[in-house]
Amino acid sequence: MIEEFYDLSRPLLDADAKAMELCKERFAELEEIKEYNQLKMLRAFTDNYVGGNHLVGTTGYGMDDPGREKLAEVFAQVTGSEAALFRSSFMSGTHTLTVALFGVLRPGDRMVAVTGRPYDTLQGVIGIDGTHYGSLMDFGVRYDEVELLSDGTPDLAGIAEKCRGAKMCYIQRSRGYAARPALSLDQIEAISKAAKAVQPDIIVMVDNCYGEFVQKKEPTQCGADLMAGSLIKNPGGGIAPTGGYIAGRADLVELCAHRLTAPGVGGEIGCTLDTLRDLYLGLYYAPGVVCEALKTSVYASALFEVLGYTATPKYTEDRNDIITSVETGSPEGMEALCGGVQQGSPVDSFAAPIPSDMPGYEDPVIMAAGAFTMGSSIELSADGPVRAPYTVYMQGGINFNAARAGVLLGADRMMKLK
Ligand SMILES: *Cc1c(COP(=O)(O)O)cnc(C)c1O
Repeated sequence: MIEEFYDLSRPLLDADAKAMELCKERFAELEEIKEYNQLKMLRAFTDNYVGGNHLVGTTGYGMDDPGREKLAEVFAQVTGSEAALFRSSFMSGTHTLTVALFGVLRPGDRMVAVTGRPYDTLQGVIGIDGTHYGSLMDFGVRYDEVELLSDGTPDLAGIAEKCRGAKMCYIQRSRGYAARPALSLDQIEAISKAAKAVQPDIIVMVDNCYGEFVQKKEPTQCGADLMAGSLIKNPGGGIAPTGGYIAGRADLVELCAHRLTAPGVGGEIGCTLDTLRDLYLGLYYAPGVVCEALKTSVYASALFEVLGYTATPKYTEDRNDIITSVETGSPEGMEALCGGVQQGSPVDSFAAPIPSDMPGYEDPVIMAAGAFTMGSSIELSADGPVRAPYTVYMQGGINFNAARAGVLLGADRMMKLK
């Protein structure tokens, strides 16, 4: 059908047909996860008596904002957490993770990143990039790191060694811009057990960006005490205009609330303006939207494998985030793939992505994003820092039929480079 709308070569159309055939079984599994998570979501809404009054926001201090409080309760239930903050006043994933880290860590505490070097923007937050803008290290928080093993799995022995005496065990679930697999929930549970065996009061915190609703459980149901993520990724369902969440143990979430607003004030304030309806709707849609993104991700892996490129994870592998990376082999390859994805986007389809410097990132970054929400990466997006082996990270796709077209347009441009 796509040939009625886009002029694609016969070999590419054949590869597309083959990829779709390869994906059939995986798609059925993804549909099953979606159904489970959607029903879990419906029950979280109805069990908490979400009403029409909750969809209307407040201004000013936002004291006693019933919609804000209710939404956090719904999110806590759906993720099996004791408590949550789920708000538009978080500015990004990085900001949300920053609030969580500064919320619970104190001078003299030691945090151990147990999945290797954290995501680019977190390096400035911690201070490991040598900057001093009030990083955790500037405030006397000590930092330690445990590399993943060469096969990409957690080094449980190393983790046990370094977590003794530490305050926080920090896990990044998704791969981010790294050539490593995303962590499974079983692996998160194993890390938590290893850390708590040597330090029972250690706080296990998970950067859950891109991981929400990908499986039937969340990290807080698998040994994590605290987790955080962005609402312009999975849990915003492509509808939340901005925001983030922190969820987990009630005492820790409370500390984070005092860091988000002001010490002593806590979560009682924070007006919601006109954001509540979008946040509720986006969260409600999230299981379905994440399924579309996962289908796009699995399909892209299959298509690029058929075309002879290295794509990870493989289409046959279980997903723990919504990212598929493709090694394009050259800066031109990155521009071709990103350009095609941009062309297949509903907004700004006519733009041409080119690499440029981004705050918080070391190398120039190229980004294809034709999204309804600026910078949204639950919508189809393709990006990466321009460095060898010129890997493009693709994520999102709020609608598989359209995202498949975007992936094909990218592949078409790459084939023309050869
Ligand atoms: C997206 C992301 C973040 C936060 O990034 P923002 O662009 O600030 O939202 C942090 N960690 C991981 C793994 C991510 O994917």
